[in-house]
Amino acid sequence: MKLLLDSMLGNLLTWLRLLGYDTEYWKNGDDEALIQKAIREHRIIITRDTQLHVKAVQAGLRSVIIESPDTVSALVQVAEKIGIDVTFNPLNTRCPDCNTPLSLIEQAPNRWLCGGCGKEYWIGRHWRNIGKVLEEVSRRLKGE
Ligand SMILES: [Zn+2]
Repeated sequence: MKLLLDSMLGNLLTWLRLLGYDTEYWKNGDDEALIQKAIREHRIIITRDTQLHVKAVQAGLRSVIIESPDTVSALVQVAEKIGIDVTFNPLNTRCPDCNTPLSLIEQAPNRWLCGGCGKEYWIGRHWRNIGKVLEEVSRRLKGE
């Protein structure tokens, strides 16, 4: 499942990439070009923009409209609508900056290297709250 976020959803970008989804971010506001990219690359659009959502659906694309400003609620909405898995998998995660799949560094538990931009990541400094946020998302999905 490949995703395309509109420019208003920058906060979701990191999360979807951490969860291992190939997620592109559309920074400029040209709806037509965004829709063409989604068609070409078979991406599901995730947006806050009702007009864009309607255009995407008319173009035969899958599109998710996000109403909530907060990250947890937005992830719950995405999971409910397109069934993303909200469990963090250390073997299937992507660079928040460049979308390249990350590799675990041998002999260094919970450290990852990006082959795309060369950045290193580790739980504790960069990703302190991953667990907390994803647990909250799971709880809400279960209706707790
Ligand atoms: Zn990278």
